[in-house]
Amino acid sequence: MSNLDLKPAPTVCGGREDVSAQPVHELLTGRVVPLGESTVVRRLLPNLGRRMVGAWCFVDHYGPDDIADEPGMQVPPHPHMGLQTVSWLHDGEVLHRDSLGSVRTVRPRELGLMTSGRAIAHSEESPRPHPRVLHGAQLWVALPDAHRNDAPAFEHHADLPVAAGGGGLRATVILGSLDGAASPGTTYTPIIGADLTLAAGTDARLPLERDFEYAVLAMSGAAVVDGVPVEAGSMLYLGAGRTELPLRADVDSGLMLLGGEPFEEQIVMWWNFVGRTGDDIARARADWMSGSRFGEVTGYDGATLPAPELPPVPLKARGRVR
Ligand code: MN
Repeated sequence: MSNLDLKPAPTVCGGREDVSAQPVHELLTGRVVPLGESTVVRRLLPNLGRRMVGAWCFVDHYGPDDIADEPGMQVPPHPHMGLQTVSWLHDGEVLHRDSLGSVRTVRPRELGLMTSGRAIAHSEESPRPHPRVLHGAQLWVALPDAHRNDAPAFEHHADLPVAAGGGGLRATVILGSLDGAASPGTTYTPIIGADLTLAAGTDARLPLERDFEYAVLAMSGAAVVDGVPVEAGSMLYLGAGRTELPLRADVDSGLMLLGGEPFEEQIVMWWNFVGRTGDDIARARADWMSGSRFGEVTGYDGATLPAPELPPVPLKARGRVR
């Protein structure tokens, strides 16, 4: 998915200053952002006061939406740099096309993982015809400096490992590893992404890494995370310093666990790009607009997405103030 904000604000993030070394409860609500003509998404990251969780730097939750009589998702070809995109569905289908020539339909609980490296372009659309309901999340992972200029790649993993849960909990490992189960998805920093299905009556404890910081995104139902009720469409930041996470649910509920080692490097994020300096971003924007570097997406029925204007103030990585 793309950041379709017409005036995206630059975000400077990364570093240790914002990371809570101790367990905390920080409830984050999503900012509603229109996506195309008929869809809205709830943007959980970056959020006011909370910009990253480990290397996770962008989280949108959308749906469940009835798109039976709608085009559904229609995100025209757009570029990415310096990040990985994770497409994760609970309902529906998304057809991915990219400038490497990949054409893939991503289905519920399959991992669509695109590593932009230095440059890639892609489109995402609801196939025609498509299932009635669309519900999912789009997430980005910042690439560390040593890999941000790597060659682009797209992976599709339909058969992801399930960590031993118990107590009504089922954990599908999307990225990284959890309780001995490891995802085949390529990662570049110590990170975890897991899909948590809680059957009605769940009372379970999930093992965590003490050095990771964590957040839980609520997708559906009404789960109670470490004693805190988390409504669908919101996210609970948990900090670091935990070795387990108590989870309860009285009704069937769906969550995503996001976490990782705090991301030490400072990054500059603007529109669909992650760089280190304002110049990185300005060059990427100019290259996209001149049709160089990012390649071409074939097969999408429509024009490419133009980049918004750069903000008048130069983008600069700087120390953060909270
Ligand atoms: Mn995208």
